[in-house]
Amino acid sequence: MFFYTVSNPNDPLSTEIIKANRRELEFWQSLKPDDNEDLATVINKINARSGLARKFIAACLFSMCMLPHLPKFHELLKDLSHLDMARINTITKTARKIPSEKRALFDAYLVSYLTPTREAQALPQAPSIAAMLRKFIAIQCPPVEAPTVEKPYTIRYRRNKNDSISITVDAAEDEAIEIKTALEHMVKDKDCAPGSALLNLVRGLTTKVVLNTYGAGDCPEYLEGGYWLTAKQQAFWKERVTSFRDMDKAEFAFTDAYAPTPEIRLFVKGKFTTCSVPGCCVDVKNCQLDHIIPWKDGGPTTVWNLHPLCVFHHIQKTEGRLKCYPLPNGDILFIIDGLPITTTPDGPLSRSHRSWGTTFGAYINRQIAA
Ligand SMILES: [Zn+2]
Repeated sequence: MFFYTVSNPNDPLSTEIIKANRRELEFWQSLKPDDNEDLATVINKINARSGLARKFIAACLFSMCMLPHLPKFHELLKDLSHLDMARINTITKTARKIPSEKRALFDAYLVSYLTPTREAQALPQAPSIAAMLRKFIAIQCPPVEAPTVEKPYTIRYRRNKNDSISITVDAAEDEAIEIKTALEHMVKDKDCAPGSALLNLVRGLTTKVVLNTYGAGDCPEYLEGGYWLTAKQQAFWKERVTSFRDMDKAEFAFTDAYAPTPEIRLFVKGKFTTCSVPGCCVDVKNCQLDHIIPWKDGGPTTVWNLHPLCVFHHIQKTEGRLKCYPLPNGDILFIIDGLPITTTPDGPLSRSHRSWGTTFGAYINRQIAA
């Protein structure tokens, strides 16, 4: 039987979580306002009695109004009760952007994505869900005429507790990723704070920026950072690709060295979107590659034995406090608190995206100047 670990009927804690999710859904269902009720009054009524944030109340009420328009997903939710309100609200917020003629397709897509396909599968985290929703919009509902200036987009970059920067720009999201990557590279180049990196770029210092894209043939379809490209964006990024790598070969490549080759590294980073520990949301870009079977125990340096771990979890694993094992299908089995839990890779090079074909891979290596 396939199930998410949160739906494990034999685990008392999971059973309680499921009950809590079900109760919460029923609770918000019971508060759904009638069409002619004033929304602000309803929010006031709930806020005064619950202390919940108004924004959260509004999002939950919107979800209750949207779910009947996604009947198959709604049935799945009622059946499994595996999603909490935060995840449901993320999904319904995206559903608002889907034109009505595509809604049935979106409904089926959600059911397919959020139905377990493994035993003891880890529930997808918010960044993975957001990336999958962006993929649907990029492919199925691209803007008819993409505006040159989109809604303001805020770039947040934090090097450590004291060094961070936040910039709001009128740029498309893929352009904002480019700006953020330039800042990150300048910080590394000069070992400076993000604010100083911005100043360096303003003063005309250049830095080498590498942005990886993945796609079939020579067409980029995914920009690192969880961003699926629309057809128009694909055409834009295709012009900027300066070198290609054949990811088919990288999947089965290995090296006798401890450090992975650049191709193996790129494949692993394209296989995941976050740290592979269930529930961890650290972006794969900020993770270190770890040998699942340790190198000192004979674990080879090859794709099936490598996965991304954030610094925190890498230390735990190195200290022997985190146990995991590679599975033949590319999943990773973790044993956490005595329970098995499977991480299913969901990056552009994972098996979930096999429909792309077999010759994946392209990456951009270019110079930018401020
Ligand atoms: Zn982690």
